[in-house]
Amino acid sequence: MADYASLEAGLAERKAQHLYRHRQVIESPQGAELSINGQTYLNFCSNDYLGLANHPKIVETFTSAAKEYGVGSGAAHLVSGHSYHHHQLEEELAEFTGYPRALVFSTGYMANLGVISALLGQGDAVFEDRLNHASLLDAGLLSQARLQRYQHLDGDDLDHKISSSRAKQKLIASDGVFSMDGDIADVKQLAQIASGYDSWLMIDDAHGLAVMGQTGRGTLEHFGLGVADVPILMGTFGKALGTFGAFVAGEEVLIETLIQKARSYIYTTALPPALAAASREALRVVQTESDHREQLHTRIKQFREGVSQLGLPVMESVSAIQPLMIGESDQALAISETLRQQGLLITAIRPPTVPADTARLRITLSAAHTETHIDQLLDTLARVIKV
Ligand SMILES: *Cc1c(COP(=O)(O)O)cnc(C)c1O
Repeated sequence: MADYASLEAGLAERKAQHLYRHRQVIESPQGAELSINGQTYLNFCSNDYLGLANHPKIVETFTSAAKEYGVGSGAAHLVSGHSYHHHQLEEELAEFTGYPRALVFSTGYMANLGVISALLGQGDAVFEDRLNHASLLDAGLLSQARLQRYQHLDGDDLDHKISSSRAKQKLIASDGVFSMDGDIADVKQLAQIASGYDSWLMIDDAHGLAVMGQTGRGTLEHFGLGVADVPILMGTFGKALGTFGAFVAGEEVLIETLIQKARSYIYTTALPPALAAASREALRVVQTESDHREQLHTRIKQFREGVSQLGLPVMESVSAIQPLMIGESDQALAISETLRQQGLLITAIRPPTVPADTARLRITLSAAHTETHIDQLLDTLARVIKV
């Protein structure tokens, strides 16, 4: 029998705990402003950090590639779905990241599942920062390796855990820029620990790619690191690059292994070729129009100076993610609702996405924001949040 009563009870419990989630229907492209239900809001909750999701050149490339290649890819990559644009994109990603080779996955979630379960199995161990993205944690669980979570950014805790491991294969996985906190992993330290214990190191740079580093090569460029230090780099297109999809970069033998063994690569339909074409154009824009990244960092600076003058509880972050720590879920939710009534969209992030009692307002900034938008944000926050 379908037990709807226990589903009802589960939903009611979520509501009582202020953890119930709702979707809102967006009626405009991504940008500094979003339209919902005929109303216009200032958008401080997208991951479109460079404002590329509606960039004219990328839209044009997407539509003309769809006219040439159609919409659907028709099959998985190993059958007949691997098109010219997918292949070119992989070569251009290898060049951009400075890695020998890259492999395009349909989503970042699938890339993480694919890599970890292709490399590890029973008898192996995966070490993950407690605040890693859910897809990395799920990947660790799916692989059937022993999943050990170390304290956030705590190299000593990682060292302690990995030094007592007798696993055959070891893999350390971390976000580059943490998605709910905006802070950065000390990748140099992770690389030292990994090499000291003969472990793989995988960095998920979904939030660092195209944002961090002098030329937008991400968190690794920020630290001056490459494939010799970080053998597995994962990046996504759905955030700063403004499109959709993901990739893994590494040595030739790693990528060939993934093509043979990563189930989330093999058993799924390839991305539409036009999307791969759009990501190629986005990659070109990131490399040729550095003003988007400069504009973003100017806004980040403006925002951080403003909030520190106001004494608001902003978390340590040099990335586009600038959370304000609130604590209680109901309070974070109430503030988010008041901000919305004032025309600002800022998501309250609550458990289980973040640890208990660390509900927060996740403010994200974008190159699409103007100086005036940030001033409006600061003025409204000052009125709504009493410190
Ligand atoms: C968004 C995100 C992913 C998932 O990428 P998708 O392409 O959206 O599936 C993985 N890791 C991190 C850190 C992310 O922020």
